[in-house]
Amino acid sequence: QVRSRRESGCCFFREEMNAKARDGLAMERALHEALACEAFELWYQPLLDLKSDRLQGVEALVRWRRGADDWVLPDQFIPQAEESGQIIGLGRWVLKTAVHQAAAWQCVLNRPLEMAVNVSPREMLYPGFVDDVAAVLRESGIMSGTLTLEITESIFMEPEDESRVVEILERLRGLGVKLAIDDFGTGFSALGYLKRFPVDVLKIDREFVRDIHVDMNAATLCQAIIWMAKGLQMGVVAEGVECAEQLDILRQSGARSIQGYHIAKPLESKDVLMFISKNDGYIEE
Ligand code: C2E
Ligand code: MG
Ligand code: MG
Ligand code: MG
Repeated sequence: QVRSRRESGCCFFREEMNAKARDGLAMERALHEALACEAFELWYQPLLDLKSDRLQGVEALVRWRRGADDWVLPDQFIPQAEESGQIIGLGRWVLKTAVHQAAAWQCVLNRPLEMAVNVSPREMLYPGFVDDVAAVLRESGIMSGTLTLEITESIFMEPEDESRVVEILERLRGLGVKLAIDDFGTGFSALGYLKRFPVDVLKIDREFVRDIHVDMNAATLCQAIIWMAKGLQMGVVAEGVECAEQLDILRQSGARSIQGYHIAKPLESKDVLMFISKNDGYIEE
């Protein structure tokens, strides 16, 4: 009896593994196809500069168009793309598309609109990444100093890689690229990395912003992060701002810029110029 139970457990385990491998392979194939037939699209979410009350830039967010009105969000495929290595090809496409798009919008608006692009650790550590960035900057004619790369804290968690990561970040900065830590506060890394790695901006994760208007402790924590960032001479962006009350508290706490549904949801590229123009006051309704 014991034996048969163990056997069936084993069997179950093997089936699970097969199913996982099958799903993984199917996903890999689907991603491959999507890349080949240009089924990815970038949407852009505005960032508001609280000092000037102007839109300082946008963040590119990838979506996978599977049908007419069927969009797959990145959390559904980025992890698999990271695992299979397809993030390298996808990331190259994202970077190129976003930077060229920024250059085109800058030309129309005649101002240094910023572009933020999310980069996976694996992508950034891949040989040739910095050269690719340099080439895209050159080819696109994007205004200098307007590209930000967003990375997550996980890149700072591999001590063996530390000198390599520092070198890559420094070379990127040498190109005039700004570096932001995305989802700040949700990783498991110790704060010490902030003084060892050259980064310019902290993006406070929306988890910390969510309750600031209803919970004193949440507000205190958020304010502490803002003060710390300022003390380290870093910029700070609060993510996930969904209402005016949150915005007011962040303004009072000295946040430099904010992003969230209260300002705008991610927009299709065709709607971005109109949105920015209205905000800049060029177009009156
Ligand atoms: P992220 O970079 O932290 O992006 C913010 C996410 O929060 C976006 O989800 C955005 O739509 C959502 N969001 C923005 N404002 C609000 C708000 O006020 N309330 C709420 N509830 N949500 C808000 P999205 O587009 O699904 O992206 C999820 C994550 O996928 C991103 O998190 C980023 O880590 C990753 N990602 C997106 N595009 C790329 C990409 O091109 N390359 C890589 N490597 N990762 C990407
Ligand atoms: Mg981001
Ligand atoms: Mg984030
Ligand atoms: Mg995130």
